[in-house]
Amino acid sequence: MSLFSYARPRALGEALKLLRDNTVAIAGGTDLVTLMRHGLARPERLVDLTGIEGLRGWTREKGKGLRIGALTPLADIETSAQLRRVAPIIVESLRDAATPQIRNMGTVGGNLLQRNRCWYFRDEAYPCWLKGGVRCFAVDGDNRQHAIIGAEECVAVAPSDLAPALIAYDATVSLSGARGSRMMPLSDLYVTPRGRVRREHAITPDELVLEVRVPENAIARRGAFEKAMERKTWSFALVSVAVSVKIIGGVARDARIVLGGVAPVPWRARDAEKLLEGRGLDDAACEAAADTALEKAEPLKDNGYKIPLARELVRRTLRRLT
Ligand SMILES: Cc1cc2nc3c(=O)[nH]c(=O)nc-3n(C[C@H](O)[C@H](O)[C@H](O)COP(=O)(O)OP(=O)(O)OC[C@H]3O[C@@H](n4cnc5c(N)ncnc54)[C@H](O)[C@@H]3O)c2cc1C
Repeated sequence: MSLFSYARPRALGEALKLLRDNTVAIAGGTDLVTLMRHGLARPERLVDLTGIEGLRGWTREKGKGLRIGALTPLADIETSAQLRRVAPIIVESLRDAATPQIRNMGTVGGNLLQRNRCWYFRDEAYPCWLKGGVRCFAVDGDNRQHAIIGAEECVAVAPSDLAPALIAYDATVSLSGARGSRMMPLSDLYVTPRGRVRREHAITPDELVLEVRVPENAIARRGAFEKAMERKTWSFALVSVAVSVKIIGGVARDARIVLGGVAPVPWRARDAEKLLEGRGLDDAACEAAADTALEKAEPLKDNGYKIPLARELVRRTLRRLT
């Protein structure tokens, strides 16, 4: 690990001032420290966000929806019985995320901004395309866990379990930086690496995530989350599925189907969402939506198994809502 200096500001303004030239924010450190130890991140200075008041915890105000501070530990979300009643998809998404220890340290902001888990990207010895190299080693190499849809030059998948769940609730994210504050749909925080864009997130280096907001009308939707893993614990999603839907008069309205582990970004299955509009969530509708969700998938040589896996997971998650 290369040398770096460290600051732990007590106020947001102070942190924002410190975030310049090769300075990186650290929250729980469960991803960043690993990247630093493997030489994949070499910040000259770390700005520890954990001393800043007001970025931790969640609130729900009637009519104003849900706000979750970026510094909230994942464990606080996952173990909250109250939140489970309010926004079950969010809580379910963290049930099998990482381990209890990592959920204690890891935060909401850090989870949403974690880097991908492609073994070529994570191995310092491989000058992969995303790190500025000329090729993606996974395209012709070991691509068992890589993308089946939506990838361009880089076939790594978006790893967060929380992101699909929040996107299924139409979450927005609040950012603050040296040039002011902005809100964006959480889905826009994720970018597909392509062309000159060799990154996974739309946030600029001088910006911080302050909180995630879920609108009241989205919380009112019914929802569920399912995750398929290689083993029962401590495993990233091979595929995850978050769905939310309003059921009005026995039919589905305004459905969201968001897949994790299949694409470089949390993947909205928009055609499948449209297909469900106005239909009852019976077996036939859930199966048709699942088929549609995977219609455009193009597997690599080792990951064809993800197509039936994802299809079945979409079907099963939708069926849970009936
Ligand atoms: C063994 C293991 C298994 C795991 N399994 C899963 C899993 O199954 N599912 C899953 O979803 N995740 C999994 N994870 C990832 C884990 O959830 C993340 O490492 C954790 O959530 C990151 O949070 P953190 O606070 O530690 O982030 P950090 O490591 O501190 O930061 C991560 C990144 O986010 C940036 N950052 C953090 N907070 C902010 C902020 N507020 N504003 C701007 N930038 C910020 C940092 O600069 C850094 O780039 C696993 C991790 C490990 C090590």
